[in-house]
Amino acid sequence: MLGPGGYEVLTAVDGADGLRLVLQERPDLVILDAQAPGVGGVEFLQALKEQGSAVPIILCAARGSEDLLVQALRLGVRDCVVKPFEPQEMRLAVGRVLAQARLEAERDQLTAQLGEVNERLQRQLQELQTLYGLGRSVTSFLDLDTVLERVVEAAVLVTQAEEGLLLLRELPEGDLLLRAARDLDEESARPLRVPIDDTLAGQVVRTGEQVVIAQARSKLATGYLVNALIYVPLRTAEAGIIGVLGVANRRSDRSFSEHEVQVLSALADYASVAVQNAGLYERAETERRKLEAVLRETAEGVVVFDFSTGIELANPTAREALQLPSDETTEATEIGELHPSVRELLDAVARSGRVTRTEVPIGDGRTFSAQVSPVEGVGYVLMMQDVTHLKELDRVKSEFVATVSHDLRTPLTTIQGYVALLERVGPLSHEQQEFVKRVQTSIADVSELTGELLDLGRIETGYDLAMEPVQLGEIIDEAVEVYRPRAQERGQELRWESRALPAVLGSRHRLGQVMEHLLSNALKYTPDGGWIAVEAMGDGEYVIVRVADNGVGIPVADQPYVFERFYRVESEVTSDVGGTGLGLTIVRSVIEKHGGRVWVESQPGTGSVFTFVLPRMRRADLAGKQGGGDPD
Ligand code: ADP
Repeated sequence: MLGPGGYEVLTAVDGADGLRLVLQERPDLVILDAQAPGVGGVEFLQALKEQGSAVPIILCAARGSEDLLVQALRLGVRDCVVKPFEPQEMRLAVGRVLAQARLEAERDQLTAQLGEVNERLQRQLQELQTLYGLGRSVTSFLDLDTVLERVVEAAVLVTQAEEGLLLLRELPEGDLLLRAARDLDEESARPLRVPIDDTLAGQVVRTGEQVVIAQARSKLATGYLVNALIYVPLRTAEAGIIGVLGVANRRSDRSFSEHEVQVLSALADYASVAVQNAGLYERAETERRKLEAVLRETAEGVVVFDFSTGIELANPTAREALQLPSDETTEATEIGELHPSVRELLDAVARSGRVTRTEVPIGDGRTFSAQVSPVEGVGYVLMMQDVTHLKELDRVKSEFVATVSHDLRTPLTTIQGYVALLERVGPLSHEQQEFVKRVQTSIADVSELTGELLDLGRIETGYDLAMEPVQLGEIIDEAVEVYRPRAQERGQELRWESRALPAVLGSRHRLGQVMEHLLSNALKYTPDGGWIAVEAMGDGEYVIVRVADNGVGIPVADQPYVFERFYRVESEVTSDVGGTGLGLTIVRSVIEKHGGRVWVESQPGTGSVFTFVLPRMRRADLAGKQGGGDPD
């Protein structure tokens, strides 16, 4: 009946035979006669169910056996054909049941596939999470060993391998050393050192290529038996191949997929970044330690301020000198707690943006030369050098110079006296008269020099600098009158409009000297027929005085030095103008002793402007004076 339909038909003689056939041959369909001899009907169906068979069954039963039918349907019979039946009837039933079974099989397969996809997605998600977590540990400040352990752990997890390891090269040319391992038995972990030659890991380092072994029982050179293995290189841009990350299966023969190789490469990249970061960190740390040691040992005080004006760093010398609290409390140190001179210095640098220096006398009698420089991206750096011994030397030298100058005066006066007497004691020849004149000029020069040296010594030590309220206008009037005849002689125009100015607290005599030196210079360094202009005005807290001329000017390169002791500009125009090089030094000394500032602006060939500012006198100064205190 079924042969022509292309079906292969197996026939059983009784129920027991049928059961055996079904279990052995696993047919696609069973047609069961309800009255089969031996194990038949419901008994047969139960037996099949017990055996776990799900083969579709068509029951063939006689009319009137409804009870049997109901039971059979409960036991999973797919269809019933009632005897007697037409062949066509049976063929239709067989076709129907098989079609249904096929559909069910397809459905089951689809469900299974979906399950697989789902599982794969889950795994990928887990992989992503692992990689993400690892990325975070690489960028966080974990120590290198922990990161490497995590990389190996992740490698084993995502490749589902039995074991994993990470080897790093000892030196650029050295062996590989085991740095992290997971589930590696002690035996294999023992050769902690893997040579580059003749080993699989070494091959990865030599060639820079990954090695993948699949499903072959291979014995590696290290005596290590594996079924499947991946070794990928660790690479950095700077050092090339720095190590190897590997996973292996030794018991199971599951081989690794292409995807797992890729994931392992990604993990190796993480490890490389971590190694590189650790290297950079170590280098930065070494540099920092070196710098710290240098700063600690240096005899100079160094303080770094950040832009929000807190103390960032201070070495022991600076801490000791400025009486800053010890290291731990650095952050609490505010600029406000600093020495007032340092504070002023910082303010000045913040305003001008230029390197500025000053002297800082500290409580214990020491003097520091302090320099503050603005440093881009850092803030301000204060350098302090102990100049106490230099100050002392300077003092000793000044004292010596003052003593010598003083001691020279008496013999000089004697020489001057006797030279003057020469003419009186007898007639001199014309030549002798000429010689006497030269001797006299030289004596005048030496006297001027000793006089100025003595002055400078006195001004610097503050000796003879009694301060009183003075009218600068009057002082200028007097000085201008002293120089007017000399200017007229040379056809120079001397401009000055006498005017009242705010009083300043100072020494009339010394401020008069300042004006005389400035005017004398202006006349000396201005050609016949030129002009000299004096201006003065009150400006807020200050009084400003300017002495300008249209003379020879000062070369830019010389300008910073003209206030230095004995500094004279060497040039053809100034060579036959006499002078000691001390005039402007005296000017600066006096002005600074008065709490003021002096500077020059000049253009060679056009002229010069010397300006000084003095603080105007305040009521409090006067009160102090009346109280009898001597500010100097
Ligand atoms: P000196 O006794 O030589 O004048 P100073 O200390 O007064 O010494 O001045 C130092 C130098 O500065 C001078 O030698 C001169 O070259 C320069 N100088 C000072 N004042 C003027 C000026 N008004 N014009 C041009 N050069 C000047």
